[in-house]
Amino acid sequence: MEQQLLLQIANEFGTPTYVYDVELIEKQYDKLINAFGNHEVKLHYALKALNNINILKVLKQQGAGLDAVSNEEIQLGLRAGFTPDQILFTPNCVSFEEIQEAVEVGVHINIDNLSILEKFGQVYGSSKACCVRLNPHIMAGGNSNISVGHIDSKFGISIHQVKHIERIVKHYGIRVTGLHMHTGSDIIDGDVFLRGAQLLYEAATYFPDLEFMDFGSGFKVAYKEGDIVTNIERVGQQISDSFTEFCSSYGRKLELWFEPGKFLVSEAGKFLVKVNVVKQTTSTVFAGVNSGQNHLIRPMFYNAYHHIENISNPSGEPKLYSVVGNICESDTFGYDRMISEIHVGDILAMHNAGAYGFTMSNQYNARFRPAEVLVNDGKAHLIRKRETFEDLVRNEIELEGF
Ligand SMILES: *Cc1c(COP(=O)(O)O)cnc(C)c1O
Repeated sequence: MEQQLLLQIANEFGTPTYVYDVELIEKQYDKLINAFGNHEVKLHYALKALNNINILKVLKQQGAGLDAVSNEEIQLGLRAGFTPDQILFTPNCVSFEEIQEAVEVGVHINIDNLSILEKFGQVYGSSKACCVRLNPHIMAGGNSNISVGHIDSKFGISIHQVKHIERIVKHYGIRVTGLHMHTGSDIIDGDVFLRGAQLLYEAATYFPDLEFMDFGSGFKVAYKEGDIVTNIERVGQQISDSFTEFCSSYGRKLELWFEPGKFLVSEAGKFLVKVNVVKQTTSTVFAGVNSGQNHLIRPMFYNAYHHIENISNPSGEPKLYSVVGNICESDTFGYDRMISEIHVGDILAMHNAGAYGFTMSNQYNARFRPAEVLVNDGKAHLIRKRETFEDLVRNEIELEGF
């Protein structure tokens, strides 16, 4: 997206505002599909990354399914026109009632807990199929909060418990049609996918009814220049080769699934904020903007790096700034950044804001969540209104006599 268009958007729709570029989402989708060469691969977009209905429609158009982690996300998917068959439900620590709710809707169920698996067998026997989420005990991921496949992780059923899974499956006649793993986000080492895959291939010998294998996600994208990213072409090549080999030894061609979130939408998003104050202190120059951790929490929560650009003065002299928010916390978007000279009123664009930006935003400090804008064919469309005071108090109940 050109800076001129971003400035126009800031002008027309105000700030803070998230802006998404359809073209970039489509490009990332194609890139991932093409990495697997001739091997057909199914992508279930992890909508927790970004769930605006228009984004979901773009991905549906591309041919994606959805990976949902809650019944509410399933509802968002259905509302966007996905059929239940295109949705995989991969929850964690949910009650059996929530699983039942999803079964009734008719989506694919991914079970990550032995006691739930047993309950599933008791209730459904062989009448409903399910997928099993295995924990391969591989340490991977950019940050401890997003590493989910290691030994201490709450996710999945341990790969060492396959024998126990098999007992339950046989006893109740459960049809396990899929095996799944997801080891974390921001995985740099592509071999992690291959090692995980090998473990799943070995586990597959216990499950004769398989129709698909899902290797999760965690593809890392570049947040700053020179960042190491997942070599998607290499991972694609290696996985499709090993998967072809696996299928021939398994005796049947299975479907190959992935469930990317960040890879598809991160780069497509920019977050536009306006500079309220430029404040020289004894140690640095702060640029204080009209947003904060309530709108983009990744820098504070994951220590994530988001490149920050002054689109109002792109050719100004680069100077050192710390860009901070307006929340009553030390909410810093970036320390010691070289940014072209900032004046009050300038619009800053934070890059890589498509994934886990808006969906993790909240109303802390009683501030409104940002607006969202979609850019398609060079035209900007408002796809979510900025909140209003009514949104803040909508569900509050004022007691009589207080
Ligand atoms: C969050 C999540 C994903 C997506 O991870 P990204 O790093 O955004 O690609 C995929 N699968 C599951 C089960 C998840 O919880």
